[in-house]
Amino acid sequence: MKILIVEDEPKTGDYLRQGLREAGFSVDLATTGPDGLHLALHTPPDLIILDVMLPGMDGWQVLRSVRAAGHTMPVLFLTARDEVHDRVKGLEMGADDYLVKPFSFAELLARVRTILRRGRSGTEPTSLQVADLELDLLRRRVSRAGKRIDLTAKEFGLLELLMRRQGEVLPRSLIASQVWDMNFDSDTNVIEVAMRRLRAKVDEGFEPRLIQTVRGMGYVLETPQAT
Ligand code: CA
Repeated sequence: MKILIVEDEPKTGDYLRQGLREAGFSVDLATTGPDGLHLALHTPPDLIILDVMLPGMDGWQVLRSVRAAGHTMPVLFLTARDEVHDRVKGLEMGADDYLVKPFSFAELLARVRTILRRGRSGTEPTSLQVADLELDLLRRRVSRAGKRIDLTAKEFGLLELLMRRQGEVLPRSLIASQVWDMNFDSDTNVIEVAMRRLRAKVDEGFEPRLIQTVRGMGYVLETPQAT
């Protein structure tokens, strides 16, 4: 499987290329928008990892040109943390997923595998659903049993992560790196507090309880098995 990385930060690009090669992928790296587009069109990869801010041509233009040329390979966008609107734009424009910088390599690899497993573009849902809990990625709305639930941006990010990784126990470190940032102080109980608030909103007054604490491991969102 071939992956094209379009990323202008040399450190990030080299790091991703090396990691993906070690994971068994064949990898091309372009450091400008036009170079990325050229490679995407002339040696089409199975997946493109596309940074948004690029010299010459930004990630949106690259994606638009790739799609206009009829290519449907999945695209994983890399966005900065304050580019929330860009994520929506990306999904609307036919990106398959996005990853917020900074991210861990393990997280990137997991996304890459999920996207490749899911197959060709056009299948990315714009909403996530677990039992009667629904999260609308485009409108940034959450409801349970048809009742609207108001969440803060952090709570929304937390819930989105839990729902995307439904059934997986997510360690605090992964939650911190995905929803907070690299400089997150792991000695604080910020995650516990946010999780408690999220559970109060999502699970209280509803059956069954979807968010579970796995002691010493982390958190998981799943529909409990009927007994
Ligand atoms: Ca960049």
